[in-house]
Amino acid sequence: MPMSVEFSANLPPAFHVMTKPSGAICNLDCKYCYFLSKEMLYPGSRFRMADDLLQTYIRQYIESQRVNEVTFAWQGGEPLLMGLGFFQRAIDYQKQYTRPGMKILNTLQTNGTLLDADWCRFFKTHDFLIGLSVDGPRELHDAYRVNKGGAGTFDQVMRGWRLLREAGVEYNILCTVHAANQDHPLSVYRFFRDELETQFIQFIPIVERTTPQILPLANIGWSERDGGERPLYEQSGSKITNRTVNAHKYGEFLSTIFDEWVRRDVGQVYVQMFDVALGAWVGQPGGVCVFAPTCGTALALEHNGDLFSCDHYVEPDYRLGNIQSDHMIELIASDKQRQFGLDKQTTLPRYCRECEVRFACHGGCPKNRFITTPDGEAGLNYLCAGYKQFFNHVDRPMKIMAGLLNQRRPPAEIMAIMTAEDKERLQQTFATAKRNDPCPCGSGKKFKQCHGRQR
Ligand code: SF4
Ligand code: SF4
Repeated sequence: MPMSVEFSANLPPAFHVMTKPSGAICNLDCKYCYFLSKEMLYPGSRFRMADDLLQTYIRQYIESQRVNEVTFAWQGGEPLLMGLGFFQRAIDYQKQYTRPGMKILNTLQTNGTLLDADWCRFFKTHDFLIGLSVDGPRELHDAYRVNKGGAGTFDQVMRGWRLLREAGVEYNILCTVHAANQDHPLSVYRFFRDELETQFIQFIPIVERTTPQILPLANIGWSERDGGERPLYEQSGSKITNRTVNAHKYGEFLSTIFDEWVRRDVGQVYVQMFDVALGAWVGQPGGVCVFAPTCGTALALEHNGDLFSCDHYVEPDYRLGNIQSDHMIELIASDKQRQFGLDKQTTLPRYCRECEVRFACHGGCPKNRFITTPDGEAGLNYLCAGYKQFFNHVDRPMKIMAGLLNQRRPPAEIMAIMTAEDKERLQQTFATAKRNDPCPCGSGKKFKQCHGRQR
């Protein structure tokens, strides 16, 4: 049975830890990966979480919870490199330490290339929710998601996806948005919806910072630089690499997908960003740390027990301690971590504080706050232009969905509203179109050969 622990007033009511049992070690070499270089923090390590540490972690994590639903999030690197036995032991320890009435969930993020029938059977048996990293159809996925030899990984990932489906494992798609796929929102979205038949999609923008000293080389990738060596990636520098998503295009990417989703997929496909936005519009923000007023409740645990403030800040300055010498609960409730979370709010520039969509955005993730506002104040998010565009674009439909929810009606009713409005708008355009104009319906034909035929 778990020992009793003292809950400090500083301890957030809910938090989660991303655990990296194999550290930064991965079988792939995705060009934009910010985590691969973290290997340099542990020279000489075997990068395998030891069994006694796994047990300590599971016990402490369960002891630290004040809620009855506990989610273990396994990540990497590539966590499947740990082998099935490791996760079987994790399940055994979870059973050993769970409290009566407690529900334990497991999520695991994988590149999918190492999946086989045994893994899928295990995930199905133990109700794992699998996050599969896919960046779109083949040519978009293969742009940056490559193996150690530099070859695209699309075929192996699709093989993994098929195995997950055959075994009936629950999965969702995690797609990064970057320079290679930013111009193809609909082919990316439709591929996930129609071909991978996924119901849950997360879009994560790639923002890779670099420093002025290496600026001339910023237009090539890490792997081409310094004889192929990746430098240790840290959240510093005000320049970006060529793989980084363009801020405006990120906004357009999300808005284009939203326009299709809001007309045909509401209630069928869950796009995390849209769900989070709806939460903000109904006055129930939450969900993801990036759009929360403060952060500090999404920590990262390395293979040796080092606990860091955040998965994006696995850097010496953000190491809170090691769970082998200090209980996780003390590290999470420490002043250092509390300050880390509050800094997000206290360093918000005036431009954000006065922004019309601040209630939904809250300035985004601090790791991307490295540009200046139009009036020269530091600390604006690199993605600001995209966020502003997207949140303003969805304002009206979000208000409609919030209104539906207030009336206890399903938000999916918005689809009929949008379709009726589109139809009306189209009829108005038909009324003023000339015979040789392109048809307003978008068919590419002349009006007289399409909807203008009758007239
Ligand atoms: S730094 Fe960014 S990713 Fe990390 S907890 Fe804060 S908002 Fe979330
Ligand atoms: S949209 Fe831009 S200005 Fe507004 S809160 Fe977000 S980052 Fe700040």
